[in-house]
Amino acid sequence: MILADLKTGEKAVIVRVHGHGSFRKRLIEMGFINGKEVRVVLNAPLKDPIEYEILGYKVSLRREEARQIEVVTEQEAREALVSDEHLQALPGDLEEAERLNRALAHVAEERHHNIRVALVGNPNCGKTSLFNIASGAHEHVGNYSGVTVDAKEGHFRYKDYDITLVDLPGTYSLSAYSPEELYVRKNLLEAMPDVVVNVVDASNIERNLYLTTQLIDMNLRVVMALNMYDELQKSGDKLDIGQLSTLLGMPIVPTTGRSGDGINRLFDKIIEVFEGAVSGEHRAANGEPLYRHIHVNHGRELERCIKQLRTELYEHGFSDSLSTRFLAIKLLENDRQLEQYVAERDPDGSVLRMRDQIADKFKKEIGRRLVDKDISKGHQVTVEEEPQDIESAITDAKYAFVRGALAECYVKNEKSTLHAHTDKIDAIVTHRWLGYPVFLIFMFITFYCTFALGAYPMDWIDALFGWLGGLVTDNMAEGPLRSLLADGIIAGVGSVIVFLPNILILYLFISFMEDSGYMARAAFIMDKLMHKMGLHGKSFIPMIMGFGCNVPAIMATRTIEDRKSRLLTMLAIPMMSC
Ligand code: GDP
Ligand code: MG
Repeated sequence: MILADLKTGEKAVIVRVHGHGSFRKRLIEMGFINGKEVRVVLNAPLKDPIEYEILGYKVSLRREEARQIEVVTEQEAREALVSDEHLQALPGDLEEAERLNRALAHVAEERHHNIRVALVGNPNCGKTSLFNIASGAHEHVGNYSGVTVDAKEGHFRYKDYDITLVDLPGTYSLSAYSPEELYVRKNLLEAMPDVVVNVVDASNIERNLYLTTQLIDMNLRVVMALNMYDELQKSGDKLDIGQLSTLLGMPIVPTTGRSGDGINRLFDKIIEVFEGAVSGEHRAANGEPLYRHIHVNHGRELERCIKQLRTELYEHGFSDSLSTRFLAIKLLENDRQLEQYVAERDPDGSVLRMRDQIADKFKKEIGRRLVDKDISKGHQVTVEEEPQDIESAITDAKYAFVRGALAECYVKNEKSTLHAHTDKIDAIVTHRWLGYPVFLIFMFITFYCTFALGAYPMDWIDALFGWLGGLVTDNMAEGPLRSLLADGIIAGVGSVIVFLPNILILYLFISFMEDSGYMARAAFIMDKLMHKMGLHGKSFIPMIMGFGCNVPAIMATRTIEDRKSRLLTMLAIPMMSC
């Protein structure tokens, strides 16, 4: 139950406060801590704010704020008294009020131990691998992006905690450009995970940290899983994890999704951060800071713009459910979805007007400066250079922040031989001309093996069913039953099973191509050709699968982001002869 739904006079015990960091901090300081009792002094349906009593004094909360607080009500405690074994064991001579209080405390404590953890990261950074290991699930792990399109939830128990782990689709950013990005963002804001695990591919760290900067803007509780740590070690690159952790203000745990190394340490850290945040404690047992909210510095001018818009947002009461800093940055980036969010809550439009002014001014000033610089250098400005807009300036600033941080703690091993192999192979299989013959050879081997080798077991199966049919025909009296068995069931089942060897061999090749990473390369080199047919490079994978069977082939189209290409591929697949 949430606090906002309580009626006047009702009492409840607090489970936890959701929402972004600074909001939570303020409420925790007021006393909204796990296990504390809260009573509604006045809650009229249309009245805002609502008045509460906590720790013996009265506070008013806006309805929006009270929505972020999870509580246990007396009603829920009474139900638990009947159903919960632990509570049934309470001594019988206990007074009714005391019994209820114990039930409230017990349920609050129990719910406090349910943690929701979301995995967020770039495609292919190993989220699903971590998810499978942690939750004991067997989700498909793929080597090309977009395998996970919707969220998968897994439940498991770790130490005293019931953990709900959510595997979200891979994204490079949290803008509103692709369905995945919107989906992940919506999940982070609405399903309110207690801790976000930012899975980072350690062998590709610069690109991965861009997303991290956006999570920092959102002011969520983040633990970084530095995955593919085995690759980092093999490469000989040097990364000072402690330093990076300090610079980003979040704990970092090295993990290896393939073997499961570091998973327990990751969950220990998640629990530590969760407990720290719930109690308002920001230090670990050894006195080191657990979590520090930092700001990604976008440079003086951008920061001034952000601050100005942020103040305006603050004054319009936008500080409850979203971090105003995140909202300000996203508005400056022309985020359509959040524009709408703001427009709905600020009907006179002054926030968006101010955003437009700031963006305009920024563009003009930067543009002006570029022109000035050119004139002072003695260039004649003939082509009007497009002045940089604030949106791309923010992206640049974020990358600059990432590079700055990495410059302090990361040394790349230039002599690394690790990628040398992959690079050499890549140079051939994705080569402009060589790529195609290689591709054709691969396809030839695949289909040759599927049909030529598959022909032998096919003959055997055919012979087996022929023999079975013959057996029935010879030994049964002529009639409808014989016909049903011999020509119907045996011949019918036989004609389907006879294709089984081909399908198995084809799938063996497909999964080999997927796991070796060749599929991703093939999709890359086929992209141009496929686009000529109005399809997508990724359409080729489901189409190849269509030779095996159309059903999984159509299922495989879900990896194609673009709706139109996805539909076209689905419609084309039944033309593949299977
Ligand atoms: P997702 O897209 O983030 O869900 O990534 P997946 O879990 O599907 O993994 C992508 C690929 O990376 C798979 O081939 C995994 O086997 C591989 N992988 C995942 N974690 C690790 C790791 O820690 N080390 C190495 N070497 N490979 C990994
Ligand atoms: Mg995945």
